[in-house]
Amino acid sequence: MLQQIPPASRQDHLSYIHSHADSPWQTYLAQVDRVVPYLGPLARWAETLRRPKRALIVDVPIEMDDGSVRHFEGFRVQHNLSRGPGKGGVRYHPQVTLEEVMALAAWMTVKNAAVGLPYGGAKGGIRVDPTQLSIKELERMTRRYTSEIGIIIGPQQDIPAPDVNTNPQIMAWMMDTYSMNIGGTSTGVVTGKPVQLGGSLGRVKATGRGVFVTGREAARRIGLDLQGARVAVQGFGNVGGVAAELFADAGAKVVAVQDHTGGVYREDGLDVARLLAHVHERHGVAGFAGAQALAGEDFWGLDYEVLIPAALEGQLTETRARRTKARLVLEGANGPTLPAADDVLHDRGILVVPDVICNAGGVTVSYFEWVQDFSSFFWSEDEINARLEKILVGAFVSIWETSERLKVPLRTAAFVVACERVLEARAERGLYP
Ligand code: NAD
Repeated sequence: MLQQIPPASRQDHLSYIHSHADSPWQTYLAQVDRVVPYLGPLARWAETLRRPKRALIVDVPIEMDDGSVRHFEGFRVQHNLSRGPGKGGVRYHPQVTLEEVMALAAWMTVKNAAVGLPYGGAKGGIRVDPTQLSIKELERMTRRYTSEIGIIIGPQQDIPAPDVNTNPQIMAWMMDTYSMNIGGTSTGVVTGKPVQLGGSLGRVKATGRGVFVTGREAARRIGLDLQGARVAVQGFGNVGGVAAELFADAGAKVVAVQDHTGGVYREDGLDVARLLAHVHERHGVAGFAGAQALAGEDFWGLDYEVLIPAALEGQLTETRARRTKARLVLEGANGPTLPAADDVLHDRGILVVPDVICNAGGVTVSYFEWVQDFSSFFWSEDEINARLEKILVGAFVSIWETSERLKVPLRTAAFVVACERVLEARAERGLYP
């Protein structure tokens, strides 16, 4: 039994943190501050949430096709391992920083616990614009990065997966490199692999499917009929593209889409299948025929009921939160809403389904993939989707009930459910030595 100890105050923070107030790491810390009052005696352990357990910075030198040598900065952060091995994706993006990866790793800790998966939280990334690399350069960079972080990853230690600008091919190279280095075939070291290499059916669409499933549950509770509901999606990649497709299949009208190349709008609803084909060919929504082009900020003030930010962090600012006419925000991306915007949305009665449950479909099917790899017994896609639905709806209901019981927004409720689990594990394991 834990003794009753008052909540710890925030201790002096990490010397290597220099970020501005709206950075992902500061956003995460503000979210932790909001949950501490609800943790009771477990608050004694709360400082553990504010520090990554382990952060590795690696140099990734590669030979370019023209014979020159370039160095890239790579990271792998294990935020918390109290409940199991680390789990979280790898991002290739020119703006990746250690602090961003720390925040993404921390959100994985919360997400895995909120959904009840037996994992801690981790994340990785390389500061690179992958569109500037040839396929061979991309492979060399991925392999060198995997070797460098090989000292802390492994099927029982930390299991990477895809995130922004990484995909099943990159996971195949990671699995192969790790396997070569240990002298065997270790399929369980990464998830999101191609199906013939121990990947799982349903993984590619799992995150978008989770956005749809949790969105449907939330819509029902606020009396929003998805049939004919207008939806806007920011980010039209693995998460946003699939979510848009599933909402359109359910009878909703996807009226606006924005990505890094621009925005498109059609009052009667965009043809999502055609837009996906266009993006596949042209690598962005810009130039899509049969839709109006949208100027950047216009996207936020349009008429729609459902807003799905599915691009990057910090997109939903206070100003945009004041402008939006949405009734429901579904966080496909990690950390898209700034804390000040969260307050505005709450005050305006707009329901936010937070990232840590909304986009948890991907890691849930990654968990299924890992389990299938260990047992070398593979499930059908129907089985995967049924189990995914069951886990996500169960997690959503418990967070919804916590939110009603404590009279707090869904994000705080999700953090309460998750942080209790993480800190109970922390307390039960005890401090070593
Ligand atoms: P992706 O690389 O497939 O797509 C990213 C999309 O965001 C692209 O359409 C890109 O054009 C758009 N984008 C980038 N910068 C933008 C900007 N400044 N403005 C507007 N759009 C911009 O990545 P993804 O896997 O779909 O990931 C998107 C988000 O979802 C990220 O926050 C990621 O962490 C999160 N997420 C992904 C997964 C997964 O399984 N892939 C799981 C959980 C959460």
